[in-house]
This record gives sequence, structure tokens and C-alpha cells, in this order.
Amino acid sequence: MLILKSAWGIIHHTVHILMEGTPSSINQTAVKEALERIDGVKDVHDLHIWTITSGLDSMSCHILVKDGWDCQQILQQAIELMEKEFTIHHRTIQVEN
Ligand SMILES: [Zn+2]
Repeated sequence: MLILKSAWGIIHHTVHILMEGTPSSINQTAVKEALERIDGVKDVHDLHIWTITSGLDSMSCHILVKDGWDCQQILQQAIELMEKEFTIHHRTIQVEN
């Protein structure tokens, strides 16, 4: 029973990674809201966050930018936000206007 109990944690963690589930340490809604708070961002969609391997999280999303805003500057802010606030080192962000 003791072995089963400790094995369950490892199996659960492994299956979660293999299924590319959202990492438990990251709140998907919080990421979306943080991106939408950047000045000039109209909408964030197609947001996906998954674990490639233990300790390496990855994300992809589309950011819709309001008319007249600098897309490149908003992209840079989004990258910094992912790095500093959520420690997501691998990002693929598509900017649309
Ligand atoms: Zn899109």
C-alpha cells in the first residue's frame, strides 16, 4: 500500500506531462488576464499552456492589438510578462491587428 501510494504521485505527474496538460503551477486564466491588461491589447485567444518536460513549460497564443498601437512593442511586453511573472521560457506568440 505504501509503494502504491508513493507510485501514484509519480504516475499522475508523468501522465500529466505525457498528455501535455496545463502545468499545475500556472493558472491559465491568470495568464490570459495578465496579457489582456497590457495597454493596446484588444483580445487574447487560442491560449495554450503545456509542459514539455518536468520544469519546462511552454505556451502559445494570439494577441489582437488595437488600431494605432505598436505590435512589436506589445509583443515585447508580452514576452517579458511570460518570463518574469509566469516563468514560461518557451513562448510562441502571434500578434494580429
Ligand atoms: Zn488569432
